[in-house]
Amino acid sequence: MGKIKKIAVMTSGGDSPGMNAAIRSVVRTCAYYRANCVGIYRGYEGLIDGDFIELTARSVNNIINKGGTILKSARSKEFRTKEGRAKAYEHLKEQNIDAMVVIGGDGSFTGAVVFNEEYKFPIIGIPGTIDNDIFGTTHTLGYDTALNTAVEAIDKIRDTASSHNRLFFVEVMGRDAGFIALNAGVGAGAEEILIPEEDLGLDRMLESLKKSRRAGKSSSIVVVAEGDKSGRNVYDLAKYVEENLPEYEARVSVLGHMQRGGSPSCFDRVLASRLGVKAVELLIDGQTNLMVGLKNNEVISTEISEAIKGGHTINMELLRVSDIMTT
Ligand code: ATP
Repeated sequence: MGKIKKIAVMTSGGDSPGMNAAIRSVVRTCAYYRANCVGIYRGYEGLIDGDFIELTARSVNNIINKGGTILKSARSKEFRTKEGRAKAYEHLKEQNIDAMVVIGGDGSFTGAVVFNEEYKFPIIGIPGTIDNDIFGTTHTLGYDTALNTAVEAIDKIRDTASSHNRLFFVEVMGRDAGFIALNAGVGAGAEEILIPEEDLGLDRMLESLKKSRRAGKSSSIVVVAEGDKSGRNVYDLAKYVEENLPEYEARVSVLGHMQRGGSPSCFDRVLASRLGVKAVELLIDGQTNLMVGLKNNEVISTEISEAIKGGHTINMELLRVSDIMTT
C-alpha cells in the first residue's frame, strides 16, 4: 500500500451521541500527521452521490459537545448493489482518497467488508451505536450517553409513580441487545428488567411485583427493552399485569428517540477522541479492515469481520444484582 495522503470519514446507520467528537478526532489526527481529510455526507448514500467536503482542523471547532452528526447519516439501499459500490469507488478515485474511516454499527461494517473485498480499499471502523451490541469493544460511541439519558428519564417517571402509587412500564431502546435496559434498570433501581437475551417469563415478573408489594413498596418500575423476548409489546405487558394483579394501576412510557440525541457524556467524548486517533494511526501505518474499540480501558483493534460475527454477551451478574436489590 502506498503512502496514505488523504483520508475520508463518514457516519453511517443510526446516529449516536459522540459521532461528532469522533469526526473531530479523525480530522484533527489527519491534520496532526499532515494528511488531508474529506468528510462524506450521508454515509454510503453520499459516497455514491459524491457528496464530499474538505475538512480542516478548524472545520470541526465546537462540535465535540454536539449530539447527532454534522456529516448527517443515512441508510443506503444502493450501496447493497454492485453498481452502487462501483459508483462509490469511482468517486473515491476521482478525489484521490486513499483510505476511509466508517463510524457506524454492524450494518455499516458489513458494507465496509463487502466494499473492501471488491476494491481492496483501506477502511477502519469506529463503533457508533447506542445499543452497545458490537463485539470487540466494551463500549460503543453513544452508549454511555444513552444510558444516562434513560436513567434520568426513569428517575423522573419514578417521581410520578411514587406520588400516585402506580406501576410504570418504561420501554428503552435495544432491539437485539439489553445493555441499556439492564444497566439503566439497575442504575434507576427498577423492580424488574426484561431484556431480549433472556426469556425470563411473565410469571417471574408477576412474582417479582407481588414480592415488591409484600415488601411494602407502593410503586414499581419495570424496564423493558424494545426487543424483549416475552413476545408481547410494552402495552400488552401492562395489560397482562393489570389483568393478573388488579391491585396495580399500570402506565406505559416509551422513551424512544430521545435516547439517541443530546450532548455526549464526557466518557463518550473521551472515547471518541481516543478511537479517532487510533483509527487514523492504523490507516497511516498501512493497516485495514479493523475496528477500533475499548477493552480494559485500552484502545484495541479487532478484525471488522470478527466484530460483525462475534456475539455480545450480557452481564448475568447484573441481573442477579438487580434481583438482590429488589429485596
Ligand atoms: P445501527 O446499529 O444504528 O442500525 P448500522 O450501521 O447497523 O447502524 P444499517 O442500516 O444496518 O445500520 O447499515 C448501514 C448501511 O450499511 C446500510 O444502509 C447499507 O448501505 C450498508 N450495508 C449494510 N449491510 C450491507 C451489505 N450486506 N452490503 C453492502 N452494504 C451494506
